Amino acid sequence: MNNFNFYNPVKIIFGKGQISSIAKEIPADARVMVTYGGGSIRKNGVYEQVMKALEGRTVIEFSNIEPNPHYETLMQAVEIGRRQEIDFILAVGGGSVIDGTKFIVAAMAYEGEDPWDILAKREQVKGAVPFGTVLTLPGTGSEMNSGAVITRVSTKEKLSFGSPYTFPKFSILDPETTFTLPIRQISNGVVDAFTHVLEQYLTYPVNAPLQDRMAEAILLTLKEEGPKALLNPQDYDTMGNIMWSATMALNGVIRVGVPTDWATHMIGHELTALHGIDHARTLAIVLPSLLRYKSESKKEKLLQYGKRVWGVDAGTEDECLEATLQATISFFESMEISTSLSDYEVGEDTIKTIVQRFQERGVKNLGERADIQVDDVKEILMMSL
Ligand code: NAP
Ligand code: FE
Repeated sequence: MNNFNFYNPVKIIFGKGQISSIAKEIPADARVMVTYGGGSIRKNGVYEQVMKALEGRTVIEFSNIEPNPHYETLMQAVEIGRRQEIDFILAVGGGSVIDGTKFIVAAMAYEGEDPWDILAKREQVKGAVPFGTVLTLPGTGSEMNSGAVITRVSTKEKLSFGSPYTFPKFSILDPETTFTLPIRQISNGVVDAFTHVLEQYLTYPVNAPLQDRMAEAILLTLKEEGPKALLNPQDYDTMGNIMWSATMALNGVIRVGVPTDWATHMIGHELTALHGIDHARTLAIVLPSLLRYKSESKKEKLLQYGKRVWGVDAGTEDECLEATLQATISFFESMEISTSLSDYEVGEDTIKTIVQRFQERGVKNLGERADIQVDDVKEILMMSL
């Protein structure tokens, strides 16, 4: 096992009716900004519950944070937040609202000239306005980590940042808030969380059996609960189990002491930035090809994954590897997510563009062995066509 430090200060408040506990979690004299998206929370009663819990406080709202949150929109919130002397933000929504809010809180406290530098130049975040979240879409894990991914529309860039200052103070996870989710978003959440686990698990062995088994426990739970959610999207236990699995998938617990890949996410972000393909769908496109392309260097863990998660243990190593990849693809497709680029009307032109953009930005050495170069990215995407 590799050396590690583990730090995660996020308080999780799970269960039915827990939105009311916001009142105890936010200082009574705080000037609060509530951030949310395009209005789903106004249709499912979450907005009312949040506002009731905030009664008696100074509250302003900032809405219309879009999926794959835009820097341009978020900067408006930064300006309003500073002008209104906001000292606590409550993000209510999915990964986009939560990620967007992480950027807002960091940018409000940023002393440099342009907060975009936090993303583009990886300028260090030295402080942030405190914030909490009410999660309405399980998948990204953003509710219990300090990372965020932000899109700049004018340049079609999608970049990430993270900082110890951008952990939420608390996150409310009430499975009932998910009951209005369209199937497409439930599928996205399950596949995003599943891929988060695989990016931290399918690397090379470092003799960390506890991390392996925790990762496998999350994969097995998502494999069982995901299809149930498509059949019965308002089942409290199913949605609760998906919610907690997705949180555990990316809160740092399973990544301690092990190598991580993240090349699938890096490549996937380009597909979203260029074509607006949902985040999880980009992962379902890239991951199977990447695993096939790197199957030699990931062999041991791939075989373990196949055996323990999909029950693959008959045949030669090559046959087991192939059966494991096929099981993964079938799972994504059973979640109604297509895994080939051509189904999204994306062709070789886009692959060329992505390669060019990586070259321009100096993106190289991806993956757990830092051995995926731009030419490999091209090969991987060609295999996804
Ligand atoms: P999302 O973009 O937050 O939301 C997708 C859609 O779902 C929105 O249109 C939203 O509508 C709707 N929605 C949310 N909750 C709903 C509910 N309860 N009922 C009905 N509709 C609902 O989706 P996401 O997959 O959670 O987030 C994706 C973003 O997170 C991407 O930008 C991705 O790169 C990022 N991400 C971050 C991390 C991380 O660790 N920080 C990890 C992976 C991915 P409204 O706008 O109307 O609410
Ligand atoms: Fe993700």
